Amino acid sequence: MSLYCGIACRRKSSWCYRLLSTYVTKTRYLFELKEDDDACKKAQQTGTFYLFHSLAPLLQTSTNQYLAPRHSLSELERLLSKFGQDSQRLEDSVLIGCSEQHEAWFALDLASLQKLEMETELQGSFIEMRKALFQLNAKDASLLSMAQALLRWHDAHQFCSRSGQPTKKNMAGSKRVCPSSKIIYYPQMAPVVITLVSDGTRCLLARQSSFPRGMYSALAGFCDIGESLEEAVRREVAEEVGLEVDKLQYSASQHWPFPNSSLMIGCHATVKPGQTEIHVNLRELEAAAWFSCEEVATALRRKGPYSQQENGTFPFWVPPKLAIAHQLIKEWVEKQTCSSLPV
Ligand SMILES: [Zn+2]
Repeated sequence: MSLYCGIACRRKSSWCYRLLSTYVTKTRYLFELKEDDDACKKAQQTGTFYLFHSLAPLLQTSTNQYLAPRHSLSELERLLSKFGQDSQRLEDSVLIGCSEQHEAWFALDLASLQKLEMETELQGSFIEMRKALFQLNAKDASLLSMAQALLRWHDAHQFCSRSGQPTKKNMAGSKRVCPSSKIIYYPQMAPVVITLVSDGTRCLLARQSSFPRGMYSALAGFCDIGESLEEAVRREVAEEVGLEVDKLQYSASQHWPFPNSSLMIGCHATVKPGQTEIHVNLRELEAAAWFSCEEVATALRRKGPYSQQENGTFPFWVPPKLAIAHQLIKEWVEKQTCSSLPV
């Protein structure tokens, strides 16, 4: 049976979908919804919606935990009608995923509606994403950050950059088209390399003045146009701390919603032997330093931000678990032989 079966047999699909893995059938179903406006509209009937207001997701609290509620189409239609909106507004929603049972999930921003009244009606609060992200479980955090990125992209691409004419989104929100110049716009992310530099026994961490006090992280920077990943890492390390990368290893990647939408590409790098003197580029960084395995293992266990200590300093800590920087630092510590291992 060909893998294409899932698409070719979509109208009499259940028996042949069973031959494919859950992941593949989900992926094929979402692909179909992105390509076929009618299928997507139909999926809204049984789908559920995450709500946003001015890019802040609606959250509810339950026993000191934040939850991201989803609303059915009928609940949403009732809400829209109560606030004087018609169901046409649903066409602004974007597809962000589906359950294993193929319940499609959408996100909709209701920025033009009264925020406080909606919060009362929905028994929740629209929480700024920077705060929400660290309160949610990893699955919801990832889904909502993707939803916010997509909603923001649509908001910022209402007009064609060539003709200035309004662009039109497809039902799923996977693209926008300019009817005048026929240009198709796809949502984009900016690639960012984030590199944990080591000299073999110590690792290099740095901070920007905008970071919370005491927090140090791996070096990060946008890829320049035309650069490979390897070139971007070498350039960033040379630019920011004046060191030359010898060996480079890819670790993992992560979507990051701030400041816009970035693809964080995590790497480990070691510098050339003997080249360990840091020359901090003060246009980019406030400080950079080498840290021992013990120091970093202790910092991994701290959860900032912290207030100033009696001696006027701030405890040294690193980004929280959700951030790829934390994972890179943890991986590095686990490969060392120091006694103080991270939790
Ligand atoms: Zn155009």
